[in-house]
Amino acid sequence: MLTRLIEFVTSLVVLLFAALPMLVLLSIRRLFGGKVCFLKQAYYLNTSSTLKAKLFNTKHIYLNTLPLYSHVLSGKLNIIGSSLRPIEEVTSGLEIGKPGILSIWLIRRINKIDYEGRDNIDLEYLKNRSIKKDFMILVKSLLALSAKVGANKTPEKIDLLGINFLNCSMSAALELISRTVDMNKKEKFYFMNPDCFNKLFEDEEYRAIMEKSDNVFPDGSGVNLACTMIGKDLRHNVNGTDMLPYLCEMVEKNRYRLFLLGAKPGITEKMKKNLEEKYPDLIVCGTNDGYFDRENESDIVIDRINKSQANILLVAFGVPLQEKWIEKNFHELQINAAIGVGGLFDFYSGTMPRAPKWMRELGIEWVFRLMMEPKRMWRRYIIGNPLFLKRVRTWKKEQNKVNN
Ligand code: UDP
Repeated sequence: MLTRLIEFVTSLVVLLFAALPMLVLLSIRRLFGGKVCFLKQAYYLNTSSTLKAKLFNTKHIYLNTLPLYSHVLSGKLNIIGSSLRPIEEVTSGLEIGKPGILSIWLIRRINKIDYEGRDNIDLEYLKNRSIKKDFMILVKSLLALSAKVGANKTPEKIDLLGINFLNCSMSAALELISRTVDMNKKEKFYFMNPDCFNKLFEDEEYRAIMEKSDNVFPDGSGVNLACTMIGKDLRHNVNGTDMLPYLCEMVEKNRYRLFLLGAKPGITEKMKKNLEEKYPDLIVCGTNDGYFDRENESDIVIDRINKSQANILLVAFGVPLQEKWIEKNFHELQINAAIGVGGLFDFYSGTMPRAPKWMRELGIEWVFRLMMEPKRMWRRYIIGNPLFLKRVRTWKKEQNKVNN
């Protein structure tokens, strides 16, 4: 009853102080020959009813849904709830409770980390729903206020700063790795975050490797932002740290063999122990630290990897060392998939804490990493992030000139 009252009063406030001024602005735009003020949209409520609603005609996710607060007054919607689904996106008779204008799915979708899929995220929300969790969704939604509706193109590959990366979902990325093993093929997989893009400008050899790589995954919220800047819609933020649990499930289920190569001595053993506790049937068939003499001792390490009969090799030397090592030694490696994973082992060995989920959901994991290792990370993030965005902007202008 109290929640209902709070929702009622909040919706009234939103309608009066946000929706009404917005309507005035859109009407002025309309008067001067601009676009229509409203767009029609039908939403799924439950198996027997739909909601015919109007949205403001703007690209901003939260601004365009302002008229929906009138349906909170009438009791058809919640402010916070399971995700609000356009009728055309519903394929089966789902029971997802009363939908909310704001939802945990929407926050994860904006930051491209809705890996589990909409249904599972909604079901998880309904299972764990509490006033505290709803309040957190509200706070996270306020922090993501500038998000825009995905009206951009969603191509299979995206060219950013001269690198063509795969614009795929997390499950499609895993499928690609799995297919490589099942078909006994041999492939390299790399991730690129904004820091990696910056490194292209300092290291010709690294650039040459990445330019000819077929399997590059987009890593991090910075790449998501860059894609929005160039008018492309990223499907998922496919980063190694988020991928690992799914990869382990896949390795476990298919009885593949995993080799961990990289990080300081002792780290891979800790990681192996942690993973085997969590995934009892996982086969980690070998480990090796990343501080051997790469010039003179690579043969010994490759021999260990080959003898272990690994299918999937994770190489964690950091960018671009790992990419260069994989390229140089790929022909000697008897594996199916070599994946460059950067600092991943430090997280999963328990050596380095990972950012809390709310920070990841907001796409600010880098802030946490900066707090953890300010001396090492300030250059990467404080200088590197704006530099990356500036480079994207300049590159976009150049691309536009070429295309016109
Ligand atoms: N590392 C290594 N061998 C080296 C240098 C680094 O195995 O010669 C490891 C290091 O211990 C760390 C990882 O590579 O675990 C690099 O982590 P970082 O977070 O810098 O990688 P990024 O993902 O940012 O490239």
